[in-house]
This record gives sequence, C-alpha cells and structure tokens, in this order.
Amino acid sequence: MNEPPNSPRTIVLGGGFTGLLAAWHLQGLDHVVEVWEASSTVGGWAQTLPWPGPRGEPGWLERGPQGLRMSRGSAMARLVEELNVTLLAAHPRGPRWLGKGGRRQPSPASLSGWLRAPTLGFRDLLRLLAEPFIPAGTDPDESMYAFFARRLGDGFARELLPALVAGILAAPPERISLAAVPRLRHLEAEGGLLIGGLRAGPSSTRWPEDGVGELTRTLATRMECLHTSRPARTLEPLSGGRWRVRGEGCSAEADHVVLALPSTAAAELLKAAAPMAAGLLKAIPRLDLRVWHSRHPMVKGWERGFGLLIHPSEGRGLLGAVSLTADDPRGVPGLLQVRAYLGGAYQVDPALAAWPGVFRELRRWLPELPEPIQVREDPCPGAFPLLEPGHEGRVATLLEDLPPNLHWLGAERFGPGLPDLAEGIEAWAQEFSPAAR
Ligand SMILES: Cc1cc2nc3c(=O)[nH]c(=O)nc-3n(C[C@H](O)[C@H](O)[C@H](O)COP(=O)(O)OP(=O)(O)OC[C@H]3O[C@@H](n4cnc5c(N)ncnc54)[C@H](O)[C@@H]3O)c2cc1C
Repeated sequence: MNEPPNSPRTIVLGGGFTGLLAAWHLQGLDHVVEVWEASSTVGGWAQTLPWPGPRGEPGWLERGPQGLRMSRGSAMARLVEELNVTLLAAHPRGPRWLGKGGRRQPSPASLSGWLRAPTLGFRDLLRLLAEPFIPAGTDPDESMYAFFARRLGDGFARELLPALVAGILAAPPERISLAAVPRLRHLEAEGGLLIGGLRAGPSSTRWPEDGVGELTRTLATRMECLHTSRPARTLEPLSGGRWRVRGEGCSAEADHVVLALPSTAAAELLKAAAPMAAGLLKAIPRLDLRVWHSRHPMVKGWERGFGLLIHPSEGRGLLGAVSLTADDPRGVPGLLQVRAYLGGAYQVDPALAAWPGVFRELRRWLPELPEPIQVREDPCPGAFPLLEPGHEGRVATLLEDLPPNLHWLGAERFGPGLPDLAEGIEAWAQEFSPAAR
C-alpha cells in the first residue's frame, strides 16, 4: 500500500454501517485506515441476507432497515450518490393500519392522516392544528412523549404516538430521549413539525436495488484495509497520544482509534483507558428484538405492500409487521414477504414465543393473511440502544472523559437511524478536514 507521507494512521473498530462510513470519510481525508470487524461478515445490522424461495428461487431478507428515509441534500443522499448506488422506491404504497381497540384502523402516517384518525376526538384534532403556533421547547432532557404532547397535544401522544414509536424504536415514548431522533429537534428549530417539515422538503423511503446491505457491501469494497473475524480485545495508551489495539494473536498501533461498536463492546474496551466513559456506556440499556420473516401466497390489495403498527397496550409484545411490495427484487415473485417485530422494551406474552403463537396474533389483526409457505426467525439481541431522557447530558460527559485521539461513534451518539448516523458521522469527520485543523 502506498501511504502518503505524514498521513495519520487510524484503526476503526467495528465494520457495521458506522465503522465503514467513518473509515470511508477518513480515507477521503488521507488517513491510512484499517477496519477491524469481529464477525466474518461486514455490515452489522445493515445486511441483506440471502433467503431463497421455496423452490430455490433467489430471494433476500433484511436484518435491519428495510428502507431508507431519503431527503434531498441530506448526508444519506450524498452518500448514495457518491457510492453510485441505484435506489428504488415504492409508489404508491399499499394500506397502512394501526391496531387499536381490538381492531384494525387506517394508520395516520401523515398530518392529513392524523386528522382522519378515528382514535382522535374533536378537541384532539383542533389541538393538532395548533402545532405551527407552538414555540420551540427549551428542556434538553425532554422525552419523546413530552415533546409530542407539547407540540401535538395529549390526545395524539396517548392514542397514536406509542404505536408509532414502538414500531420504530421498540420502546415507550416516555422512556426515550428526543436525542434518539435528532431530526425532530431540527424540525422544531425550523418552525415545527409542519412548517419545518415543509421547509426541509419532501422525503421518501427508498432502498438500494440489491437491498440496504448494498450500502455496507459497497463501502466495504472501498476500504483500503479491512479485517473480518478480528475482534478487538484491549486498548492501551502509548506515548505521544498514540494507541495500541490488541486482538487475538495480533496487535497494531495507530494515531487515532475509532470505536464504532455497540455500547457494551465499547465499554469493555474503554474500561482501563476511560473508566467513567466505560461506565456511562455500560449503563445504556440495549433492547432485544425478535423478528420473524414469512412468505405467504399474495393477498389481493396488498401488492403495494402493507404496514401494521400495533398500539403496545394491545399487541401482547407484537409491535407491528410490514411487507415488501410484489415487485420488490428482494422478494419471490407471487409471494407476500412479511416481517413481524416483537419485544424491545415490551414484554412478550409466552404464547408468542414461537411462530404458531406469532401467526395467531398476526391473524388477529390481519385475518386475510394466508398460512405461510416459508418462515424464518432472526433474533436481534441488543438490536437497539435505549436512549433514555437525559441522554444528551450523558453523551456530553462521556465525550469529555474520552482521552485524546480516541473517538466514539454510533447509534448511542447520533441515534439509531441510518440517515441520522450518516449525518452525524459526516459532521464528525469534518474535525479532521484541513480547514478544521
Ligand atoms: C431489526 C432492525 C430494524 C431496523 N430498522 C431500521 C430502519 O428501518 N431504519 C433505520 O434507519 N435504521 C434501522 N435500524 C437501525 C440500524 O440498522 C442500526 O442503528 C445501524 O445499522 C447500527 O450500525 P452500527 O454500525 O452503529 O452498529 P452495528 O450494526 O451493531 O455494527 C457494529 C459492528 O461492530 C462489530 N463488533 C462488535 N464487537 C467488536 C469488537 N470487539 N471488535 C471489532 N468489531 C466488533 C459487530 O460485529 C458489528 O458488525 C434497525 C435495526 C434493527 C436491528
């Protein structure tokens, strides 16, 4: 490898979306970068796995995101363009439902949808319309519940929010800090959810032609030095602010080390070098999610895909389900591919421990759903960090405690959404640009 003279050497620990993207930005800033990934494949949760059809037809499933929220001018849009990844979109989308009150209702996926939501009373609707006139909040510790109750009223926060948040972050809105979705605070700073949303311009959910995993696979092909099956075991400070990383039977030294690992793994590595930061990371709860993928004969009317969110008070631990559109290249022609989520911060009824119970519960909300042709479970232990109210303060303390040249990135710092990670990592990498030095 030809190294530019005086280029900083950086080791990135973790080859998920965060680590690969951080490494890619640093390579572009002339760092000599090495990525260490513990498992035999890169991508972490952002992986598209082969799942052949019942007759061996090509087919895939997503471990993590099934789509990406894209808006013009965002870091994600820039990334996709620079990697030259082609995106597909589902237009128009199929039905969206909310399971509440023991029945399926049209789901409010937009402000106009909220206005038609049968669960909201007349007063709640009037309160929704006041949203553009609500001033920006000042409490940095605010929970997701407090934010939405303040902006959209208690009716919305009680009736609709828990299902929306459980479907995205798998936890109750009162237990989640607003820091988990940084976009909300940006929208508020721009005039509110409606005005800020209009100013930010339209966003849509899209995905790369070969699945979301194409992003991490493409990033991996751009890496100058990537080691898989190489877990980092210890981290030692050296003189001059340098660091040594040790793995199993290997070690390397660097000017900078980037921790792009789940909080539990990062805490383990930091416990000698930065015990307070390690303690703060260890204290972040992680949520286990149980995901079931199934393929069924196609249902008339669901060809454009469906989305079902279940109010957590109703679903016995089933948070929701979503299907691919009939023309999605990840699915198998003629079959409906469904993904159902359970657990997170919610207790799962023991009757839903195995597929027959999950299917019975799905049928409660989706009586049209035929018997499956294929079923596969993909347990996601520690899938999401639970960023509790007060998280921003803890992150600030943690960053202050990190020794020089040790960097910490990931879902716990920027929020778990890939677009938020892309935004946060792009901004972080600016620290290393010649203009910032
Ligand atoms: C089921 C599910 C659905 C999701 N849906 C969405 C969605 O719709 N939209 C969205 O934007 N986001 C979604 N996400 C969240 C998103 O996928 C994650 O937040 C994101 O992929 C996290 O990337 P990461 O690189 O920070 O962490 P990870 O993906 O956890 O990657 C960390 C990597 O570090 C490696 N590692 C661990 N220990 C070590 C060690 N000691 N040394 C070296 N390597 C190590 C791991 O093997 C792993 O590859 C979803 C996640 C899940 C699980």
